[in-house]
Amino acid sequence: MTRADVRLPPDLAAPQRERVLRLVAECGLAVRRHDPHVPGLLPVKRCHGCQQTGGRMGGHHLPDETVVWIHKSCHRKLHRAGRT
Ligand SMILES: [Zn+2]
Ligand SMILES: [Zn+2]
Repeated sequence: MTRADVRLPPDLAAPQRERVLRLVAECGLAVRRHDPHVPGLLPVKRCHGCQQTGGRMGGHHLPDETVVWIHKSCHRKLHRAGRT
């Protein structure tokens, strides 16, 4: 995604505009908002394996292409169990 793809309010002052663009560049807002493959955009961060909400998690793809949060260890367990 390039800077040109970021839509900002037309009446935004130049200094603010510059700051927003820089923020976008820094925190990688380059991901598309509706991309279901980006786990960070899922509303609730709950582990698909143990249903806990805390801890560091990564994404796991379900057969229907959606991505769910899952702990690294739960993810391993899940795949070892042969389920997807
Ligand atoms: Zn878990
Ligand atoms: Zn997985």
